[in-house]
Amino acid sequence: MLVLEFKARTNSQQVVAIDEAIRTAQFIRNKAVRLWMDAKGTGQNDLQKYCAVLAKEFPFANSLNSMARQAAADRAWISISKFYNNCKKGVHPVGFPKFKKHSRSVEYKTSGWKFLSPKKIRFTDKCGIGDLRLIGSHDLAFYPVELIKRVRLVRRADGYYVQFCVRVDREEYLEPTGRTMGLDMGLQDFYTDSNGEKEPNPRFLRKAEKRRKKLSRRFSKTQKGSNNRQNARVRLAKLDLKISRQRKDHAVKLARCVVQSNDLIAYEDLRIKNMAKNHCLAKSISDAGWYQFRVWVERFGVVFGRVTVAVPPQYTSQTCSSCGTIVKKSLSTRTHICRCGCELDRDHNAALNILSVGLSTVGHTGTWIEDPNASGDETSLSVASGQLGKVTSMKEESPSL
Ligand SMILES: [Zn+2]
Repeated sequence: MLVLEFKARTNSQQVVAIDEAIRTAQFIRNKAVRLWMDAKGTGQNDLQKYCAVLAKEFPFANSLNSMARQAAADRAWISISKFYNNCKKGVHPVGFPKFKKHSRSVEYKTSGWKFLSPKKIRFTDKCGIGDLRLIGSHDLAFYPVELIKRVRLVRRADGYYVQFCVRVDREEYLEPTGRTMGLDMGLQDFYTDSNGEKEPNPRFLRKAEKRRKKLSRRFSKTQKGSNNRQNARVRLAKLDLKISRQRKDHAVKLARCVVQSNDLIAYEDLRIKNMAKNHCLAKSISDAGWYQFRVWVERFGVVFGRVTVAVPPQYTSQTCSSCGTIVKKSLSTRTHICRCGCELDRDHNAALNILSVGLSTVGHTGTWIEDPNASGDETSLSVASGQLGKVTSMKEESPSL
């Protein structure tokens, strides 16, 4: 799936209508989760049927397009099945489905909208959204309308966006490079590769942190319910949006570069969610955007036909990459010195180990991500732990990114 995103030009009336549609979709999703909780053995089909019941019962639900209602129930089912999967695989936390309070998007499928021109879309259901002009440089006319499987309206701090999910299988052929690479993700550097090269950390958040602190202080000084407070909140949200865009941009560019210039990329199977619980490390870790980087490495791996391997992180920094002896060292020891004469930068040594584990486990297949999550920027991972050397592959591009 390819996702094309446009900014929408909206008037105040349309803003109200879109918000209402988003609320309705959230309502249906939550009702579906509630049904599943209350009635034992509720399946995906039951949730679909339930949409019609809700539409009869609540006039506002009826005004949302019927397939959009189903899409909302689908979302409920996604979180339910994720929960089932986690239970089955023994992943903790299991992620029991929760009620959403702050949904930011509503999804249409193949009906309830039509193009008036390549840059103008009309929503034809009874939500009253009407015609939206699309601002952006993608060429939608390039794809046949039948290939557009989803249309999503997304609310962000700086306005409303329309996403089109186009079903195209993206695969590009690249000549093999004859190179392989191990990556050791770090705090001081974004990563160190097995050639000893270091990629510096972007630290957008650190740079923006000063500004963010100032803004949040200003926010907390404002009075509840005042206009000032509202303005400060918007300013803060816009800054966060900017940071998350910079982070994604960085992750995408770096991942593409790494994947294009190597046939095999090995990296540690880090459980970032657990690591982020350690407060000292938390900021740097979420800042570094490893999660996104990894997602994009795997995605480009599929696109360009490269192998990506996530290896278990145990002992990668302690083992000598030259002779295999365990050389114990604390976090502050930056150099690896072994009796065999091997003397390397700590992270370089780790990257070499990661590469050799990666190379030795190729051939075992498995997947890492079931649903690279709907809300985008979370650092939530579903990693099957303890399985040695999983070759990861993603079946299709995330419709959400
Ligand atoms: Zn050694």
